[in-house]
Amino acid sequence: MAKIHELSENLTNQIAAGEVIERPASVVKELVENAIDAQASRIRVEVQHSGLKQISVQDNGSGIAPDQVDLAFMRHATSKIQDEHDLFNIATLGFRGEALASIAAVAHVEILTSTDGQTATRAAFAGGVKKFQEDAGSAKGTKITVGDIFYNTPARLKYLKSPKTELLKIVDIVNRIALGHPEISLTLASDGKVLLRTPGNGNLKQDVANIYGRKVAEKMLTVENEDPDFTLYGLVSEANLTRSSRNFISILLNGRYIKNYQLSSALLDGYGNKLGGKYPIAVLAIEADPLLVDVNVHPTKEEVRLSKEKELSRLITSAVTEALMDEDEASPLFQLT
Ligand code: ADP
Ligand code: MG
Repeated sequence: MAKIHELSENLTNQIAAGEVIERPASVVKELVENAIDAQASRIRVEVQHSGLKQISVQDNGSGIAPDQVDLAFMRHATSKIQDEHDLFNIATLGFRGEALASIAAVAHVEILTSTDGQTATRAAFAGGVKKFQEDAGSAKGTKITVGDIFYNTPARLKYLKSPKTELLKIVDIVNRIALGHPEISLTLASDGKVLLRTPGNGNLKQDVANIYGRKVAEKMLTVENEDPDFTLYGLVSEANLTRSSRNFISILLNGRYIKNYQLSSALLDGYGNKLGGKYPIAVLAIEADPLLVDVNVHPTKEEVRLSKEKELSRLITSAVTEALMDEDEASPLFQLT
């Protein structure tokens, strides 16, 4: 056997990229989450050829100072947590300091960023190595452009689905992030064509109308509930408006889109037997004390560990049941009988 030796930083970044960056949609997710963490109120995502050729994400957030750009692209370097206490009290979407390093390890990346709207810096990275950095002009915020994803990892490239499927995955993640952040104006354009533009005025119903159509939005009922640990707010479809998969249920925990079978089942339970084996359209935003949420379970953070999951499930089920009851009372048919 060969001697044991430490892997180069470049190689460890590529290995980490295998976990965090699975496909173009993962790049979009990481960059948009960074923009949200930077307090952006406007985010524009543009993709060329389903993101396989290019992905760019532009925000009007805090920007990165020129002398911090190298750190931003270094693995395990983050501005979001300091110590282990913070690790159990995560208030941001990112905290692992892995995304930019991972993306730069498997693609060509250019960044243009300004913290004040006057001075800006532009830098480029490829295969984990910085190519140049220079002064530039830019509005306040950050634009990151990612080209030739997986150009140096052919196995990854091969594993990707068709461009059509990859684009659908991008649309899906942007839609869900938009639903979780109606206060942010999000635009998604593909090959120059705008696929989604949300106004960012905080109106969830309007976002639902933009994403699922006006007719759907009109048939959505408001769900609300709270207890000392959790606050729920969302929209769920009337029982007669269903889909044949769970894909139209979005659960957002502290602004993070998560996959959680227990919680989506709790939502379904709220309908009792009214769904006839089908699934509703739903957006459910849950606010919880960060201390109750362990996000550090999975590199992409889509799965989280929740304390008091049973209590939260009950809260969700009863909120949905109540929303459906209110609806029955409001319906004219009911009033006639
Ligand atoms: P993480 O989000 O886990 O901190 P990233 O690799 O995604 O790790 O980003 C590294 C750092 O770069 C962030 O902690 C943040 O300080 C900075 N950064 C990344 N994207 C942006 C952005 N769009 N605007 C401002 N700062 C950013
Ligand atoms: Mg990040």
